[in-house]
Amino acid sequence: MEYEKMLDRLYASLPESTKNHERFQMPAADSLRQGPKTIVRNFPQILKAINRGSKHICKFLAKETATATSIDDTGRLVLSGKFSNQQINDLIAGYTTQFVLCPECKKPDTKVIERQGVKVLKCEACGAIRSVKGL
Ligand SMILES: [Zn+2]
Repeated sequence: MEYEKMLDRLYASLPESTKNHERFQMPAADSLRQGPKTIVRNFPQILKAINRGSKHICKFLAKETATATSIDDTGRLVLSGKFSNQQINDLIAGYTTQFVLCPECKKPDTKVIERQGVKVLKCEACGAIRSVKGL
């Protein structure tokens, strides 16, 4: 058997959760310009990938871009200003690095919990609990 095929077979035999970790990939932003606004059509998928609600990331994006952000009726992100897909990808990657990926194991399986009134990042993969500034 060819080596690559062997790897494929090994990969296929891994439990689903392991595969998901290794394949964590942010959906690339799919945006369109509408006049002075930029609309990210696949924002719901992005939120799903990072397992977060829209509120915090909207605030983050508004701050980073120095524009207003909102969510429309269909869950799309609306940025006041013209942004390229690349810019949006970079912003979301920045958010992910800062607020989603576990500082210990770098996996995205984290959630925000409150401990003694302070919001902290808890990693479901390795159990690490970290306080993250601005969470
Ligand atoms: Zn971790």
